[in-house]
Amino acid sequence: MKFATKVIHAGIEPDPSTGAIMTPIFQTSTYVQAAPGAHKGYEYARTQNPTRSVLEKNLAALENGTDAICFASGLAAQDAVMKLLKSGDEVLAVNDLYGGSYRQMVRVWGQWGLKSRFVDMYDASKVEREISPDTKLLWLETPTNPMLNIVDIEAVCAVAKRRGILVCVDNTFASPYLQNPLDLGADIVLHSATKYIGGHSDVVHGCLVVKDASLAERLHFLQNASGAVPGPQDCFLILRGIKTLHLRVQRACENAAVIAEYLAAHPKVGKVYWPGFHDHRNHDIARRQMRMFGAMVSFDLKDNTVENATKVLRGTHLFSLAESLGGVESLIGHPASMTHASIPREERLKVGLTDSLIRLSVGVEDADDLVADLEGALGGGNCQNLALEQDSF
Ligand SMILES: *Cc1c(COP(=O)(O)O)cnc(C)c1O
Repeated sequence: MKFATKVIHAGIEPDPSTGAIMTPIFQTSTYVQAAPGAHKGYEYARTQNPTRSVLEKNLAALENGTDAICFASGLAAQDAVMKLLKSGDEVLAVNDLYGGSYRQMVRVWGQWGLKSRFVDMYDASKVEREISPDTKLLWLETPTNPMLNIVDIEAVCAVAKRRGILVCVDNTFASPYLQNPLDLGADIVLHSATKYIGGHSDVVHGCLVVKDASLAERLHFLQNASGAVPGPQDCFLILRGIKTLHLRVQRACENAAVIAEYLAAHPKVGKVYWPGFHDHRNHDIARRQMRMFGAMVSFDLKDNTVENATKVLRGTHLFSLAESLGGVESLIGHPASMTHASIPREERLKVGLTDSLIRLSVGVEDADDLVADLEGALGGGNCQNLALEQDSF
């Protein structure tokens, strides 16, 4: 099955008891047994739930894995991966990553003797030099957040494989439509399904996808033993969102390309970060490992003050000022005070995350309207007729 067919059909069958074409929400905590131990594969809803099982089958197919394991959030999924390690082990993570992932590694797992180190993964050979005898897990995010650097998944996985180190790729920014890390050698793919997979900003959810039976078994054990499972209603919403994943991400990427080009040509805009630019430092790798270049765009202002950034952040109408990403609606954010506030300022500045960096999650609205909205906020003055003021629907 090709991707567009998988999102609709993989793992999804009409409900056998009624023929309902949509997977029912099995809102139950337990299942009746005919005799002790004689059940239909479901005993208790932390361990198994039919709505969740369907979603897990579908997600496994989207990432070309054998098993998916769902959690109440992306960070709960990360929590399970970290529990594969033990005290004294080290995680080597990309140095430009989701603030909450950093916070969990340093402030939660650090207390339990699990070490985390953050390095630039622009160059796979540099990653090899950074590996220590304690390194047991490589943690990749690509495109990175919010600088939109690209890590060469295949090259880094080859390094890890030679040394028997596990690789987890947080694929949230790309979504399974754009990039499939298991195909490139990764052991675990993580998604905050809150973002593109759910796609409608109405649910918090996370998942892991693997292709190795023993790893799947350990993660299923942790899912059940630690218990951060998603409820059936949330699984239903994610299943519903997935059906249009390919359409949404494709349109959002097309819009992002228009916006990135517009920003790059704007006299008030400084550097624009988007992997689709030919002069992006890992553009060729992005071209090789992604289907399109993603719908996240970050940029700085030439007059690089917090005050100027704040004017832009307060000046948009279609782009809503909010954390998160990957929904149908466009969002604008200020990483230094929002998504990345939990990362110390010195660490932020090292990766180029200045106090005035602005991050866009481009949605699936009309590209002209989005450009006009930014034009209004930037005050460029070279946009003749703001589409927003026209009745152009
Ligand atoms: C949002 C996000 C997470 C955390 O996921 P939650 O669902 O919010 O717990 C992890 N990684 C990335 C890249 C994210 O954007």
